[in-house]
Amino acid sequence: MYDVIIVGARCAGASTALLLARQGVRVLLADRVVFPSDTVSTHLLHPAGVAHLRSWGLLDALLASGCPKIESIAFQPAPELTLRAAPYPAADGSTLVLAPRRTKLDLLLVEAATAAGATVREGVSFQRPVWQDGRVVGAEFRDRDGRAFAEQAALLIGTDGRNSEVAKAVGAQVLRDEGNFGCQYYGYWSGLPDNGAQVFVGQGKAVLAFPTHDGSHLVLVGWPRERFEEVKRDLERHFLDEVEALAPEIRGYLTEENRTARIVGSGDMANRIRESAGPGWVLAGDAAVAKDAVTAQGIGDAFAQAQSLADLLPAALAAGPAAVDEATAAHVIGRDRDGANGFETTLAFATGGGGDALGPIFRAIEDRPELISMFFGVYAGRVAMGEFAAAVGAAG
Ligand SMILES: Cc1cc2nc3c(=O)[nH]c(=O)nc-3n(C[C@H](O)[C@H](O)[C@H](O)COP(=O)(O)OP(=O)(O)OC[C@H]3O[C@@H](n4cnc5c(N)ncnc54)[C@H](O)[C@@H]3O)c2cc1C
Repeated sequence: MYDVIIVGARCAGASTALLLARQGVRVLLADRVVFPSDTVSTHLLHPAGVAHLRSWGLLDALLASGCPKIESIAFQPAPELTLRAAPYPAADGSTLVLAPRRTKLDLLLVEAATAAGATVREGVSFQRPVWQDGRVVGAEFRDRDGRAFAEQAALLIGTDGRNSEVAKAVGAQVLRDEGNFGCQYYGYWSGLPDNGAQVFVGQGKAVLAFPTHDGSHLVLVGWPRERFEEVKRDLERHFLDEVEALAPEIRGYLTEENRTARIVGSGDMANRIRESAGPGWVLAGDAAVAKDAVTAQGIGDAFAQAQSLADLLPAALAAGPAAVDEATAAHVIGRDRDGANGFETTLAFATGGGGDALGPIFRAIEDRPELISMFFGVYAGRVAMGEFAAAVGAAG
């Protein structure tokens, strides 16, 4: 008998597991993969996400694994205009941005969950919830040899990503589906100079470059969704052509010799909020709220949700099922309050409202690093677009 079963052991699941286990909650953390394991996702972690790792005592280990510090962002909305400033600070005032490989970050979280006392089962797939009197009271799994087993718990936490099988199995309704507007592909190359994070945008497209583990840079190209089929047919050519067009200063480094991995990506950039809590179950991370990756908020959001669940659940688990359902409902209300701005600004960027449309504003703030940093806060979901526009207006 566990207190909670968590399905999915990456940013949302492993961090929830470690925070609960540290408070003495009996946790089963299950994933169908075996860590270290990669996943299709780039790695930008805004200061608020890094601040969570710091407060959980994991930042030093991540830096020691060779994750480079990113202390400035250069945003180029037009060839002759580069806005460079420090990232917008997290609530604790820190401005550090990181871009850890998911193989390293997710492994660090799983190891920390294990060290905290969670039972971690890798290579096991969630099959279905166990129900009793209309309430989830456990889950059935299957291991890689086809052996089925069931475990009981007071709460099932679905952190199994945007195609969540837990969400389907508990019948979580889609409450908002705002569409799918983009696609992104990325690869890794060594030898690029360290210029912090670089973002080049134009005509609805974007090129990003940032330093990550192993002395490599991740270089990403984002296109509008209508280009997805065409891009996929000749990925290499389209990728390099787009870098040449938007970021010619980077293109020269993207040689076969410097390349350290093949180009991968995704056309699933759905912006969707699911019903996220019910009797004996709760969803977190992408399983609950999926967003276009254009604003790179998913990992930090997952951390924030893990912290919220860890703040609310231990007392509720001790008090019984009704208190658990109240706690998960309160978690969802807080998540929606804190995450509303990030969801709306992501939609604005994903539909072209955050880049080209802001051209005149970008020119006005070229020499105002504090306003540039505030714009990075919009991008990170920490500042509302209206608040930024008002600050620009007030600055004349
Ligand atoms: C191309 C792309 C680029 C991105 N770039 C960024 C970025 O730069 N910054 C950022 O913050 N976010 C980015 N994101 C978003 C980010 O990847 C997600 O928000 C984040 O991974 C969500 O974490 P999660 O733990 O909720 O889910 P996931 O990371 O999707 O993990 C879900 C886990 O559940 C497991 N699982 C699934 N089904 C089962 C099952 N039936 N049984 C057992 N286990 C199961 C999976 O194996 C997986 O390990 C990007 C996404 C994409 C697609």
